[in-house]
Amino acid sequence: MQNHVLDARNRPLRDLRISVTDKCNFRCQYCMPADIFGPDYPFLPQHKLLSFEEITRLTKIFTSLGVEKIRITGGEPLMRKDLPELIAMIRQVDGVRDIAMTTNGSLLAKHAHALKAAGLDRVTVSLDSLDRERFGNMNGRGYEVETIIQGIDAAAAAGLSVKINMVVQRGVNDQDVLPMAIFFREKGYTLRFIEFMDVGNSNGWKLDQVVPSQEIVELIHAHMPLEPIDPNYFGEVASRYRYVGTTQEIGLISSVTQAFCSTCTRARLSAEGKLYNCLFASVGEDLRAPMREGKSDEEIREQIVDIWQKRDDRYSEIRLSNTPDLPPRSKVEMSHIGG
Ligand code: SAM
Ligand code: SF4
Ligand code: SF4
Repeated sequence: MQNHVLDARNRPLRDLRISVTDKCNFRCQYCMPADIFGPDYPFLPQHKLLSFEEITRLTKIFTSLGVEKIRITGGEPLMRKDLPELIAMIRQVDGVRDIAMTTNGSLLAKHAHALKAAGLDRVTVSLDSLDRERFGNMNGRGYEVETIIQGIDAAAAAGLSVKINMVVQRGVNDQDVLPMAIFFREKGYTLRFIEFMDVGNSNGWKLDQVVPSQEIVELIHAHMPLEPIDPNYFGEVASRYRYVGTTQEIGLISSVTQAFCSTCTRARLSAEGKLYNCLFASVGEDLRAPMREGKSDEEIREQIVDIWQKRDDRYSEIRLSNTPDLPPRSKVEMSHIGG
């Protein structure tokens, strides 16, 4: 039986993002800057991570409340051992219509086949530049562009649906927008541009580093004409454009300049089992302890209903209306809840 639940702003609970690890092999400056996430950083020990059984149990409870789409994220999800086993377990859950994963792509060539065989539907691969040196600097660990492209191609060859995400930061990689658009148009993958966000507490975000989506559309349109197309479904976060005369698309995720909180149907589960109502939340509610204390599914379900019904978050809308006056606040790190 499905019992849909609405939050305090009438938004249904439809999507669950599950972070499976807080670790990552990259040190992207905008997410896990190396000077903060250094060798002594206290990453979660194994026993604090939700087990695959615990994640699957929660997934079942969430689907009973209306969740249909699952996204696996991190940290870098492919750093979690035996991830395809988890995908296979989630695939068995009634009501799960779609399983996607966000990854930096560095380990994808190795795992694409097993992920597809386990039941993964889609991957989003993050790639911020095609320039060898810039990409090496941005990922903080000298990883090569070619490795990521091989991961992307392996995922497509395995039968996964593939999209590419590029976070655009003025003065860092804005010169890569056009080369990325041309490259992925030719390769036939949808590229989505993400506005640089003030997630976490450590990425030194400034508004003037955000390249507004509109500027990106105008830049690409001047070289390769674009036309807008309708959203696929209610709550789709990317605005979509098509290259005129083709079926090839790009997407723009304008989290800063055109906030989409009013249709935000996403709950986020951290690797240690805390439930967050918003990417910019300061605190999450622990679901691991109740599970380990022997609470029943029904009791945990009631706890989730209670959390969601009180949900009033709309950080990006508030930021949009008064960025300069935003009081400083402590936010969960992106690498804990995965974007
Ligand atoms: N490690 C995986 C990856 O990079 O795809 C999954 C986790 S990562 C936190 C999820 C997404 O968040 C990535 O596409 C990444 O580029 C994006 N992201 C991280 N920090 C961001 C920021 N400050 N602004 C916008 N997007 C960000
Ligand atoms: Fe790792 Fe992804 Fe964060 Fe980069 S964005 S540091 S790849 S978790
Ligand atoms: Fe959803 Fe929070 Fe982002 Fe708004 S700011 S779209 S509520 S995650």
